[in-house]
Amino acid sequence: MTPARYARPMAGAFTLSSRLEDLAARGFPGLTPRAVQDLRTLGITNVGTLIAHLPLRHERQAAESTIAELVEGSIVTARGEVTATRVSGRGKKGRLEAVLMDDSGRLDVAWFSMPYMRDVVRPGVRLRVQGKLGRYGRALQLVNPRTEVLAEGKDEPGLRGERLRPVYPASETIESRRIERAIDAVLDRALPLIEDHLPEAYRAERALPALAEAYRMVHRPADEDEAARARRRLAYDELLLLQLGVHLKRTHRRRTLKAPALRVTDAIDRHIRARFPFTLTPEQDKVVGEISRDLAKDTPANRLVQGDVGSGKTAVALYAMLLAVASGKQALLMAPTELLAEQHEASMARMLSGSRVRVALLTGSLGGAERDALLAGVASGEVDLVIGTHALLDERVRFKDLAVAIIDEQHRFGVSQRAALRIHATHDGREPHAPHVLVMTATPIPRTLAITLFGDLDISTIRGMPPGRLPITTRHVGIGGRAGAYAEVAQRLERGEQAYIVVPTIEGSTKDAMKGVRALMAELEASWFKGRRLAVMHGELSRATREAIMDRFRRGEIDALVATTIIEVGVDVPNATAMVIEHADRFGLAQLHQLRGRVGRGEKPSICILIADPTTDEARARLEVMAGENDGFVIAERDFEIRGPGDVLGTRQSGMPPFRVADLVRDRDLLAMAQRDAAAWIERSPALAHADEAVLLRRLRKAHGEWLHLADVG
Ligand code: ADP
Ligand code: MG
Repeated sequence: MTPARYARPMAGAFTLSSRLEDLAARGFPGLTPRAVQDLRTLGITNVGTLIAHLPLRHERQAAESTIAELVEGSIVTARGEVTATRVSGRGKKGRLEAVLMDDSGRLDVAWFSMPYMRDVVRPGVRLRVQGKLGRYGRALQLVNPRTEVLAEGKDEPGLRGERLRPVYPASETIESRRIERAIDAVLDRALPLIEDHLPEAYRAERALPALAEAYRMVHRPADEDEAARARRRLAYDELLLLQLGVHLKRTHRRRTLKAPALRVTDAIDRHIRARFPFTLTPEQDKVVGEISRDLAKDTPANRLVQGDVGSGKTAVALYAMLLAVASGKQALLMAPTELLAEQHEASMARMLSGSRVRVALLTGSLGGAERDALLAGVASGEVDLVIGTHALLDERVRFKDLAVAIIDEQHRFGVSQRAALRIHATHDGREPHAPHVLVMTATPIPRTLAITLFGDLDISTIRGMPPGRLPITTRHVGIGGRAGAYAEVAQRLERGEQAYIVVPTIEGSTKDAMKGVRALMAELEASWFKGRRLAVMHGELSRATREAIMDRFRRGEIDALVATTIIEVGVDVPNATAMVIEHADRFGLAQLHQLRGRVGRGEKPSICILIADPTTDEARARLEVMAGENDGFVIAERDFEIRGPGDVLGTRQSGMPPFRVADLVRDRDLLAMAQRDAAAWIERSPALAHADEAVLLRRLRKAHGEWLHLADVG
């Protein structure tokens, strides 16, 4: 930057927090009040936010040549003065033609359907144009080129070599070019002010450029290599900050919160196992071992148990709850639906029948006196195990001595609800303490996401299934195959097996020719399933009705349930061997897989028939994956690829800010590096309290302080 460009001395300081408005008012070169006003539509108000506005990508711009040197048929960049213009046609149909001259020759340019160009392209104006050079008659012509008006009287440098040009996220009011100009105006003064939060030796070890250099290279890359190096540094920073935040939080929690250390002995282990109607599989044993070790310590455990649908996570959860009871303490299990909570309570009561362990069920539908009595029992410690829905998070639920909290089907809950559970036990005014927390999920989380989001969780995985399971045969058929599908299921019902028929909504919709539960039941009763005992199951039935129907279905007194996705989680009836999903293209992969997991739980072979005429490629891809794959881990990876990470886990719900540069699929290696680096860093400096970490801590708080509740940390 030549000092000449700042001929007018500037009053006031220039810092990263200087407001653009003030700079423009002081006549800062290159910043007009109009541009400043338009930048505000993008939330850009000061120098810092302006240079933090990163390009979406870079576009290659051809080197500039004189008009005489232009080669027909290639992408060219040239500049010249407009010597004549001609307008024909009107409005959108209109055409503007111009003659552009430089010292070497003449170039004809035409703009179609761009009426606004008429105000810009006038004789005497100097333009730089870029596009593919064609021929019209005898003259060379550029049609609809990228057009840039060159500043009057100022000799903007020509584009020597090929150049990479940043393309910025723009708005209706301000386009990328003007953003580029504004950034250009402040960049040279801003770069020296950027403090690096990473020490030089640390960067050198990882071949990362300095932060200021990265900003220079992302806004003005000399070549593709520079753009890539800038991107790598900025993506690494995002991943590192997130990982540091997560580790900081974890360390803080472990240092300041105490959990009850539970007794774990061989005798207790034998007693608990004796309650199960089966022998735990080696995979379940392994996870039980991991959990037991956690629970024997007085630091609060925070563990994610992942395992495919039907892999037997419930047994593992029960084991942990019974460990709490064995030490005379309480445990809770939270499920995302009342139906699932009811199922868990029923199976737990069966297992514990004849014992002194008191189990209670707390859901939103429990009211009045019953509820008060239950809460009193929980508070006095009379109740040992509480199963429930998010109603458990209510302030009024007080435990005498909660040692273990389990969240089933965790992916259905938000992170804040997990956090609420941790607070649960801290009400009573003793030193801060928390229960051990276990979260269970059947939606296996691709590893990258797991370490990113749940870096503060230890992970246990149950691989494979309990013995004796047969793979489920899955088929996708169009509407044309519907009759055949139901005929096939009818044969199974005749043999005494049972089925689930799933529809997207309770009411259905005439517009989409989509039947609701009742209409479909009526249709089936009148045709393929004539004489069979059918029932509907959905979320608007009362708890008593729901329980009665599930009991009858379990006892085999109902042949088929016509249901909404309410049966997606937790329903466990081994004699059910057939599932039909209508309008299967309406469901996501994880949900389809979860639904399918309701069958294949017994020793007879099961089928799952997906009925749909998909209209999008994505829906087709989902159905194809379902038909070809039974392994939930593989399906989750495919889901991740098809949808991208955002939705798979509900990261939005978690409150985690989205990445601006990093991409969890593309940057797997970088993520692994950031993960290792963050762990080592926090190990070395658990509170980031050293003087030379001040900038880092400030940036960390700004990026993640809120959603990670870092206020009291560090
Ligand atoms: P999920 O992991 O989906 O929660 P569940 O815990 O509901 O799976 O278990 C699925 C089925 O497998 C249940 O019927 C359960 O009784 C059965 N099961 C679990 N563990 C075993 C085991 N070790 N041996 C035999 N059956 C098991
Ligand atoms: Mg389960």
